[in-house]
Amino acid sequence: MSASQRIALVTGANRGIGLEIARGLGREGLTVVLGARSQASGEEAARMLDVEGLSAVAETLDVSDAKSIERAVAAVLSRFGRLDALVNNAGVLLDAGERASVVGFEKIRATFETNLVGAWLLCQAVIPAMRRQSYGRIVNVSSDMGSLADVQGSGGSWPAYRLSKTALNALTMLLASELRGENVLVNAVSPGWVRTRMGGQGAPRSVEQGADTPVWLATLPDGGPSGRLFRDRQPLDW
Ligand code: NAP
Repeated sequence: MSASQRIALVTGANRGIGLEIARGLGREGLTVVLGARSQASGEEAARMLDVEGLSAVAETLDVSDAKSIERAVAAVLSRFGRLDALVNNAGVLLDAGERASVVGFEKIRATFETNLVGAWLLCQAVIPAMRRQSYGRIVNVSSDMGSLADVQGSGGSWPAYRLSKTALNALTMLLASELRGENVLVNAVSPGWVRTRMGGQGAPRSVEQGADTPVWLATLPDGGPSGRLFRDRQPLDW
C-alpha cells in the first residue's frame, strides 16, 4: 500500500510538536487526522495544513476522556476504513518546581490521566484495526526525563511528569512485546527540549527537530524496530 492511502492520527495536533508531526506525516503523503480537544483549534490547524497542500482533517479528541477516545477512533475508522499510524503526542506538564515527596494528588492524577492512561486507551482503541490490517505504527512521545538514569539523578524534581513518561516507556515495551510478529511496531521517542508552549522560548530545539523522529517512527518500513526509545533516530537507554 502506498503512503498516500495511509491514515495517521496525531493527538494534541493543534499546536507545538504535534502540529509539526502532523505536517511531517502530511508531507510523507499520509492523510492526517489532527486530534484536538478544542474542535475550533483542530480545524484551524487542519485548514493551515490544507493550504499547504497536505491532506488533513480535524477530529475532536480529549485524551483524558475515555468516551472521547472511543468516539474519535470510531469516527476515523468509519470515515477512512483503516488507521495505520497513531502518534500519542498530547501531554501536560503540571508539576514544574514540585518534588516527589510533596506533589499533590490532583497534579499526579491529571498528569497520569493525560500522559499515560490516554495514550494507553488510544493504543487499545486502534490495535484491533491495526491487527486486522497486519500493519500499524504506534509512536509514544516521551521524554529524556522519564529515563531511569535521569530519574535517579533528578533530586525528585518534576515527579508526576517524569514518572508518567517512565510508565509510557514501559507501556511501549509491553505492547511491542505483545504485538511482536504482527507488523504493529510500537516505539517511544524523546523529542529533546523544544521551543513550544511547554518547552518555553529558551529551548534549544525547533519543532522541526522535535518532530523528525516521530514522523520517521510513524512511517517505519516492515521489519523496523519495535519496543525501543529513540532520540534523533538513535536508540536511547530507558
Ligand atoms: P504543548 O505545546 O504544550 O502542546 C501540548 C499539546 O497537547 C496541545 O495540543 C494540547 O492541547 C494537547 N493536550 C494536552 N492535554 C490534552 C488532552 N487532555 N487531550 C487532547 N490534547 C491535549 O507541548 P509540546 O511541547 O508540543 O509537547 C508535545 C509532547 O512532547 C508532549 O507529550 C510532551 O510531554 C513531549 N515533550 C516535549 C518537550 C519540549 O521540550 N517541548 C520535551 C520532551 C517531551 P490544547 O491546545 O488544547 O492545550
